[in-house]
Amino acid sequence: MRQVIIIGSGPAGFTAAIYAARANLSPLLVASSVETGGELMNTTEVENFPGFPEGIMGPDLMAKMQEQAEKFGTEVLYQDVVELDLAGDVKKVTLGNGTVHEAESVVFATGSAPRKIGIEGEQRLSGHGVSYCATCDGFFFREQEIAVIGGGDSAMEEATFLTKFASKVYIVHRRDELRASKIMQDRAFANEKIEFVWNSEVEDVLGGDAVTGLLLRDTVDGTTRELPVTGVFVAIGNDPRTHLVHDQLRLTEHGTVWVDGRSSRTSVAGVFAAGDVVDPTYRQAVTAAASGTTAALDVEHYLAARGDAGLPERDAAEIDGLTDADGDTAADAA
Ligand code: NAP
Repeated sequence: MRQVIIIGSGPAGFTAAIYAARANLSPLLVASSVETGGELMNTTEVENFPGFPEGIMGPDLMAKMQEQAEKFGTEVLYQDVVELDLAGDVKKVTLGNGTVHEAESVVFATGSAPRKIGIEGEQRLSGHGVSYCATCDGFFFREQEIAVIGGGDSAMEEATFLTKFASKVYIVHRRDELRASKIMQDRAFANEKIEFVWNSEVEDVLGGDAVTGLLLRDTVDGTTRELPVTGVFVAIGNDPRTHLVHDQLRLTEHGTVWVDGRSSRTSVAGVFAAGDVVDPTYRQAVTAAASGTTAALDVEHYLAARGDAGLPERDAAEIDGLTDADGDTAADAA
């Protein structure tokens, strides 16, 4: 049996692995069978990770994190977790190839997945002009007119990147004010290939076998119109990946995994969570890495305490007593 299994291979997972490995816990890290490295694999230049003043490509940063984790003894498995049994003292992690791994503790760091608008044409034309990843698919839209949906940093980043390929990029936003940070806004405003389409909600993505346009509804006067584009990049945020645990761990009103105050302790003893899956607010590579550190240190304390007397399971009533409606602890409120 392992001392700790880490699920997820983004900055949170690999940082937890670096700390756990250096603490001689010989962690097993389960990365995805499809792609190791999490959301940063879909990013180009990362300019805000401390220590890289010239910037670093997202995939390069993740490769370095993995190298560092493996250097200290982390074992990485390229498999999907298909089932978790977290309730007992021994945690069971079932992989896509049918093998079951057991551990005293689990760090859940599965990150988040791109949010969907939830309209018919979006689903039907996904992969046929509708995309959620500019760095993956931007290349296919050379000299075409395309649209990016959203008003946050992701939308600005995707749109700016896509101007390398497309002849024109519309940023379609449902309000007349952006959510994105000032620096990202300024970069998009200064780009001559980008045109903003304000106060517009996407009613549908149009096209038979391929995207031909967007049906937009004006949020001020309610009128609809078509915007002819051949590609649509949806960048309206991310949702935490909790499908493996939603019936086992307590979640917050944001859909993220509930953790006890500033710790990584979830509602089940021996299960810790880190990164985007617990964070509805900051969602940065640096903050994810930091919470991976917290998780590894919490695992260490948990295992040390188990070595002595064992930690009691905390029941739901006890946890409810500790938290208010926002999921804040009494300690937070003090
Ligand atoms: P976000 O900040 O939550 O922004 C999502 C945007 O999509 C908002 O403008 C929102 O509109 C819009 N939206 C949400 N649901 C929609 C829907 N159903 N239909 C149409 N529009 C919808 O998400 P994000 O841009 O992915 O950024 C998330 C976090 O990652 C942020 O903390 C951001 O700073 C960070 N991030 C940082 C970088 C970077 O530093 N380089 C890059 C990417 C992301 P409203 O504004 O009207 O709510």
